[in-house]
Amino acid sequence: LVSREHHPARSVIRVGGVPIGPGTLTVIAGPCAVESPEQTLEAARLARSAGASMLRGGAFKPRTSPYSYQGLGEEGLRILAEVRAETGLPVVTEVIDPGSVDMVASYADMLQIGARNMQNFALLQAVGSAGKPVLLKRGFSATIEEWLSAAEYIAQRGNLDIVLCERGIRTFETATRNTLDISAVPVAQRLSHLPVIVDPSHSGGRRDLVVPLTRAAIAVGADGLLIDVHPEPKLALCDGDQALAESDIQEITEIVASLPSVM
Ligand code: PEP
Repeated sequence: LVSREHHPARSVIRVGGVPIGPGTLTVIAGPCAVESPEQTLEAARLARSAGASMLRGGAFKPRTSPYSYQGLGEEGLRILAEVRAETGLPVVTEVIDPGSVDMVASYADMLQIGARNMQNFALLQAVGSAGKPVLLKRGFSATIEEWLSAAEYIAQRGNLDIVLCERGIRTFETATRNTLDISAVPVAQRLSHLPVIVDPSHSGGRRDLVVPLTRAAIAVGADGLLIDVHPEPKLALCDGDQALAESDIQEITEIVASLPSVM
């Protein structure tokens, strides 16, 4: 269902009226984690000024350590919905277990499946039945074929509104948090009709790499970007090292403004 053999033309997916697919460069930006109403609204303002047409933000955070910030849960979803009402930006947020899919879907415009859950098949089937577009991140040790098979689990439940997100894979290299597999973008676009976007924030795990990785993503034809922004990265409860602050986003704003992006 997700292959180009089945559907030769590349698909455009719409999220709350925002198109993602060929001919667009859709920027989705926001905090890694929702921390408070003020932080989320301020991050949404930064996202907008960077050219974003959608807001990201995690309310349920699947952290490697159980002692790390786990997110505000449903309270975080309420904050995201309030910020959407204030800014008009459709919201994508992560869902981490099948039992909470309907609840998360009642607040979100798009459901995110994170790298750690890419092969959580019960979760994939649940979001496939939830009636909302899905952002499917690539697992950090998943091959492209495994990633597309995960998308197939969602599609099989009748939901073809799926966007693939390359967010870096695990390699021997330690200078970056993950290694952005830039070739995955054209490879996945050739194999599948689904849009493919890039997360330059989680790929490198470093603020100074967000702009170069953004340029690389655009150069290979990514259909969009998923970028972490935070009003005060030093105080961020999650992944502050990769978040862009107001002083960092000028370059992204210029890059995005020079392209045929969707505002
Ligand atoms: C995220 O985007 O919030 C996230 C946790 O990313 P990943 O699943 O790619 O690690």
